[in-house]
Amino acid sequence: MALFKKKNYIRINPNRNQAPTVKPEVPDNLWAKCPNCKHMLYTKDIGLEKICPYCSYNFRISAWERIAITIDEKSFEEWDNDLFTQDPLDFPGYQEKVRTMQEKTGLDEAVLTGRATIHDADLAIGIMDSHFIMGSMGTVVGEKITRLFEKATDLKLPVVIFTASGGARMQEGILSLMQMAKISAAVKRHSEAGLFYLTVLTDPTTGGVTASFAMEGDIILAEPQSLIGFAGRRVIEQTIKQELPEDFQKAEFLLKHGFVDQIVPRTQLKTRIYQLLQLHTERKWGEQ
Ligand SMILES: [Zn+2]
Repeated sequence: MALFKKKNYIRINPNRNQAPTVKPEVPDNLWAKCPNCKHMLYTKDIGLEKICPYCSYNFRISAWERIAITIDEKSFEEWDNDLFTQDPLDFPGYQEKVRTMQEKTGLDEAVLTGRATIHDADLAIGIMDSHFIMGSMGTVVGEKITRLFEKATDLKLPVVIFTASGGARMQEGILSLMQMAKISAAVKRHSEAGLFYLTVLTDPTTGGVTASFAMEGDIILAEPQSLIGFAGRRVIEQTIKQELPEDFQKAEFLLKHGFVDQIVPRTQLKTRIYQLLQLHTERKWGEQ
């Protein structure tokens, strides 16, 4: 009789209580949280340019990642990668911190400088990296940027700098602050030679970097939602005893108040830099 036919049940694996021989591997950094809108994102969704698909926040990227998405492939020639801090204040643990950062980031300091091409247009380029002691500016960062401007002046090249910094490096005290004046003087000499200087402010650009070369560009671009300011929000609120607007020190706020010329999404930056270089590079008649 069909009623008493043996039913086909699912067979249970007799070894089910034994630990699996192959452990499942979960790769690191599979998920990222957007610091701006707090959405959890699958890292593949933010792409090579690392942009949040929900709020268009441009994630902080390393100097080498910036090189990969901004300039022509294999066109980068690095300058001055043999400068190391002398630890002028003999600050406890500072040299060790610098060494750890060098290993972690693959950079010798918080800025990468050199020459490169963008769609075959020549330029001198400086890229700060906030992963290296918050992109803070000590004597080496100051010296590398100064040399960038001096070489660019000699070679008659325009300068493009991507800023990302927490400001002056406290471990080097007053010598860090002196870099502001030193770089500014080199910017001035570059400008007097009739050469173009473009800054791209990225998240975060603050302190002594904002108060010097970041704001000295002939044209100043910024990435969307970037934090750009001098002193921290809390310090200002405590000083003036007033609450600040929600979007205070955001790139969009600065654009509205005339500190930034244009906000350019990362995906369009390469093209926009190329257009600006073309417009501001002197060419002889008949040259392409
Ligand atoms: Zn977001």
